[in-house]
Parts: sequence; C-alpha cells; structure tokens
Amino acid sequence: MDVAIERAVGDLDRLWSYRAGPEGPQDWVGHRIEVPLGRGTATGVVLREQPMPLQFATDPKIRSVLAVLDDEPTLTPQLTELALWMSERYLAFIGQTVRAMIPPGVRQGAHGLESPPARWRAGERSPGPRAVHQRAMWEWLREHGPSTREEMLAAGSASSAVFVALRRQGLIVPVNEVQELPQKPAVQLNAEQRDAVQRLSGASGVWLLEGVTGSGKTEVYMERIEKTLADGRQAMVLVPEIALTPQTVARFRERFGSRVEVWHSGLSRGQRAETWRRVRRGTTPVVVGARSAIFLPFPCLGLIVLDEEHETTYKQDEHPRYHAREVAEERARREGAQCILGSATPALDSAWRARNGQIGWIRLTERVMQRPLPQVTIVDMRAELRNGNHEMFSGALMEAVTQTLAAGRQTILFLNRRGYATYIFCRDCGASLSCPHCSVTLTYHQETGRLSCHYCFYETVPPRRCPRCASERIRYFGAGTERVVEAVARLWPQARVLRADRDTLSGRESHERMWRAFSRREADILVGTQMIAKGMDWPMVTLVGILAADVSLNFPDFRSGERTFQLLVQASGRAGRGQIPGHVVIQTYNPEHYAIVRAVQADYQGFLDEELQYREAAGYPPFRQLWLLEIRDRDEHKAREMAQETADLVRSQVDGAVAVLGPAPAPIAKVREFFRFHILLKSAVRGAQLDRLGAVLKGRSGVQVTIDPYFML
Ligand code: ADP
Ligand code: ZN
Ligand code: ZN
Repeated sequence: MDVAIERAVGDLDRLWSYRAGPEGPQDWVGHRIEVPLGRGTATGVVLREQPMPLQFATDPKIRSVLAVLDDEPTLTPQLTELALWMSERYLAFIGQTVRAMIPPGVRQGAHGLESPPARWRAGERSPGPRAVHQRAMWEWLREHGPSTREEMLAAGSASSAVFVALRRQGLIVPVNEVQELPQKPAVQLNAEQRDAVQRLSGASGVWLLEGVTGSGKTEVYMERIEKTLADGRQAMVLVPEIALTPQTVARFRERFGSRVEVWHSGLSRGQRAETWRRVRRGTTPVVVGARSAIFLPFPCLGLIVLDEEHETTYKQDEHPRYHAREVAEERARREGAQCILGSATPALDSAWRARNGQIGWIRLTERVMQRPLPQVTIVDMRAELRNGNHEMFSGALMEAVTQTLAAGRQTILFLNRRGYATYIFCRDCGASLSCPHCSVTLTYHQETGRLSCHYCFYETVPPRRCPRCASERIRYFGAGTERVVEAVARLWPQARVLRADRDTLSGRESHERMWRAFSRREADILVGTQMIAKGMDWPMVTLVGILAADVSLNFPDFRSGERTFQLLVQASGRAGRGQIPGHVVIQTYNPEHYAIVRAVQADYQGFLDEELQYREAAGYPPFRQLWLLEIRDRDEHKAREMAQETADLVRSQVDGAVAVLGPAPAPIAKVREFFRFHILLKSAVRGAQLDRLGAVLKGRSGVQVTIDPYFML
C-alpha cells in the first residue's frame, strides 16, 4: 500500500510502500496507520492500495504496517485523491496536505474515545424574564443550536446550577428526544430567483451566481440545499470566517433545523471531532462553515456553495496554501456534486471564466421586493481641501450624518484601511507614487526612508515634489479608526459611537457582541474597517460613509483595483437593506479612477472590462499565473546567497515563456529573526516546464513556493 507520512518534512515527501500488517491485506485506503520509519515509528494515511509488483513481494526492505488506528477509514476515497491533487497543484507536501484534512481532535481520538456527550437544545418554552442567567443560557442555546453542557458553560459565565435548573424545568431538552421544530417555510421566490433555481436543478458542475447585494442569493442556496437533501445527498455552505455571524447561521437553522451544523476555527477540538464524525456518518447533512469545512468527509456530497466567493480569506496563507474555491470546484467535479459560487462582486477570475463559458453563469440583477440600490454620492476631497475643509469629513458627509442622526437611524463609517502599508500621495492632485514598471503603488518603508515596489523590487527615494502637478504638499497616508472616532465625538457629541477593527474585535465573541449591540441599536454610528463590510444585515442602517476610498486603491497589489471595487460595492450594500432606501457617500482623491467610478454606478461589467484590459497589458492573472518563491534564513548573507542560487537555478530550468523577477528582499524583509527574499515568476498556463520546476523547488529546503499568491508582503 502507498502511504503518506503525516509530517511536513521534505525528505518524507513521497508515498511510501508498506505491506499489510497484523490486520491482514484488504482495502486500507483512507485509513490512518502506524508504520515503522527509520529507527522509529510514524503515523500516516493510506492513499493507494496497489497489488505489489512481483519483484517486491519478497523484498525485505518493504516493511509491514504496525497497526491500523481507526475502525472506519478516516478519509473517504474521494478525499485521498483530492489530497494527491492538492499536493501537486500547490506544491505542498503530501503529508502536510493530508494532515490539513483531518482535524486534530479526530487525529488524537483515533484510538477510540468514549461515547460523545449528550447535546441539548432550547425547548419551546422560555425561562421567565426574571431568571436572567437561565434566560441568557437558553437564548445562547437557541442561537447556537444543539450543544453540549460544556459548550454552554464555556460560552457564558453561568454555573452548572443554571444548566441543572433549565434541565429540570424541561426548558432545554436532549437533542435525540425532541421532534424537529416546525421549520420556517421558504419565502415565495421572485421570477429571477425561480429562474436561477430552475437552471441549477439537476445540473452538476460549477456555477457563478452573480447577484447584486440583497438580491436573495441565500434563498437560492437554500432551495438548492433542500433539493440536495431530498436526493439523499449532503450539502455544505462555505462563508468567509468573519461572515459566520449568528445571523447567517440562524437563517439556515430556521430552514433546516438541527440538520445543519456550524464549522469554524472557534470550535474546540472536541466539538470539531464530534461534528466531523456526524458528517462522516451522514447524520449531519448540512454544514455552514469557514474555509476548512471544505475537507469534511461527507459520504455523498451533492452541493457546495461558496458565498462571497471573491473573499481573499478563502486562500489559506500557510501550507498547504490552497484556495478553497479551487478545492471546492475540484471536489465537486470528482464527486459529481454541484458547486455554486455566489457574489455581488465576483472575483475577476470567476467572472472571466463565466463569461468565457468555462463555468455556468446566472445573474440576479435586482434587489428583492423592488428595493432600490442605495443612492451613491461621490465627493472629491481635493475640492474640499481647496475650499478650506481640513476635516476627514466632507461637507456632504457631515450633512448626511447629521440628518441620519436626527431621523433616529443608523450610520456606518468605513475606513477601508488594511493596516501596515503606508503610501505617499499628493494632497493637491491625488496622485500616489507608483512603480514605473508595474503600475502598483510604491510602499514607504519607515526604516529605510525609501519607496519600493513589491513586484519588481524597484526602489527610489520619496520625491520632494509631486511628479504629476509639482505640488510640495505630499503626505504620508495613515489615519486610523481611532482618529475617526475622535472626530465623530467632536462633531456629534450626542451620538453613541461603536468602533470595530482588528484591535477591538479580536475573537469571534467580540465580533458577535459588536454585531448584536449594533443590531439592538445601542449605537448610532459604527466606525470600522472592511471587516464589517461583509454579509451584515442591519435594516436600520440608511447611511454608509466611506471616508477614504483611495486607501485600498493604493495598496501595493495588482488586485487593488479589484479589491477597492469589491469593498465599495459591498460596503454600499450595507445601506438600505430594510424598508428605508439607503444613501452612500464615497470620499476620494481619485474620483476619476475606474474602480471608483464603476463602484459608484454599481457597474460590475464595466469594471470588469477595464480591469481585464489592465491585467492583460501588465501580465497578471487571469492571463498569467504567478508563483511567489520565498527564501528565508536567520543569516542575511546566507539568505541572499540562497536566493541568488535559487534564481539562477530557476532561470536555468525555464525558457522565455516564464519571466523570473528578483531575487530581492521581501517587502517585510525580516520576520521573527528570519531574513526573507522573494522571487516572482510570471508564466502562461502551467505546463510540463513548470511541473518539472515545481518538483525541483519542492526538494529545496529554505524555499517556499506559493502558487497564485494573494498576500505578497
Ligand atoms: P443576498 O444573499 O443576495 O444578499 P439575501 O438572500 O440575504 O440576499 O436576501 C436579502 C433579504 O431579502 C433577506 O432578508 C431575505 O430573507 C429577503 N428575501 C430574499 N428573497 C426574497 C423573496 N423572494 N421575497 C421576499 N423576501 C426575500
Ligand atoms: Zn500632485
Ligand atoms: Zn515594480
């Protein structure tokens, strides 16, 4: 049998042959086993079962399996094949890939665990209003669905006495003893939704569901899930981690009751192991989860939905560096399932493939119930400055906030700032300094006082005058949400303000608290970064203000136009989701930039046309594939040398069809005592040449390859 050893060591990165152990020969594919390795032992997963070639049958070098660690195969046959595919696609170690597919709790529990703890759910009767703790626990349970006693206690500050009291009164009940709650009937789909459902029914393959914000995509997903379950198959819905709010989950629970479970990084190992087993057995047929849910071992998967498919959080930033969208598509293909990619602002790549007919394409062009898209006002901040307004709020936005406050409605103010990178721009003409070779913004490095390009590694000193208009009023951009909150407090002292960014929202809990507090209208104004732009549905929000649309535009990334467009449209989509129409004010120093102009018009197609032209001209995806090679060492000199050797090696392996840029110090040149160097490869489609190169690079220690990188710092 061919075995992947569960260790991320380059030397072990191949399939190892073993012969069956004491359990005897049979189909062991997918099982976890213990094997002898060198002088010790190791665990691994059987990936292939092949009859041993005759000449090896008596070969003493082929050793026997020591033990089988699981009763049932841990990985389904489809997943073992998927692991092999992933390892090739992302140049990831096979052992590491297999490891990523098996949650830690399952790996440890493989030796046999006691029976799982009972799970409880909220009964129909609720505790009285005076029983504060009981009520809190009951409500938590109602929101989170079936949970164990430990989970309930861990979630709140309540003691186990509260749990006992609830149990004694029958206010919570063990899951297997309750009848399914009557499920909320589906809404009456409108014509576009019905059309979409009809085209999707019975069709396999990959589909892009391109529907404006609030067009009812989720209802289409749910309809498809319903049908999938009726066919006796299972379904999963992937959402960006941050969008896994109680609100999202509650919608699926209302429709599918306890048949749906949640999967995310905030769950304990035990919880994950439990859910994983129920999925494996087929008793949990629907999972709503974050990225890693893509590896759940559904026995007969019929549907994968990727909501907000454009989100970059679907790309895993550590090994194996997979993209959940690609894995979802591949998995759907292999298992004959349907894959639906949903977004109001699809990733360029998905949109491009849909228009080329490579994947199916369905559009929802209107918001449900004829609700209008919000009215968008664009403000040229250069003009504000000329008129003597030095606030971060334009006159138009100030007026809109004042009116919204007076009307007793809610406002969201976005500062779509990504953090670390600082750039330089001209306050008179709005120009930012970009690389002469790459058309991406140059990043200012405080330590060196220089500007550099993260793609071709061009470097220069900051100019004293703007190259476009010769103004000397060049600024380093860097306002944070704190400063916005200060300004709000000064301008509208009566307003209650809530701040939401990476500093205030560290975990899932604080995120939920923020979401709930704003839902309960405990604040009038929410000030936040793009992390609150996603999937939120606050019907009382009628005003969205985007303070500086240019920040993401000037991020040193060839996707900055795409990101900006997506952010602006998604953020705008938070306004006017209820009965009252919304208003959006976008402030910018670049009112003519196509990403901003198209976002204001909510014109996805127009944006796509321009962006594709730029990508093709500059040689970026989807027209070229990028490989990012990172070389690191504690010794700077050695790292530089290794980087140069690697670059030479790469150049000797490829012809003119592959452009090799670098090596050069990485934008963040030193991380945790390691010096980092980058080499960037740009090539046309992947062929034999790159496959060969990949094999060579995989074997080199100190070199990390990321295929299709999303994070290049
Ligand atoms: P999207 O996922 O496209 O942003 P949602 O599915 O969240 O849109 O729908 C937006 C809102 O409209 C939700 O509150 C949803 O319940 C409601 N909705 C969706 N479809 C319909 C429909 N056909 N009739 C009435 N309300 C609908
Ligand atoms: Zn200028
Ligand atoms: Zn450059």
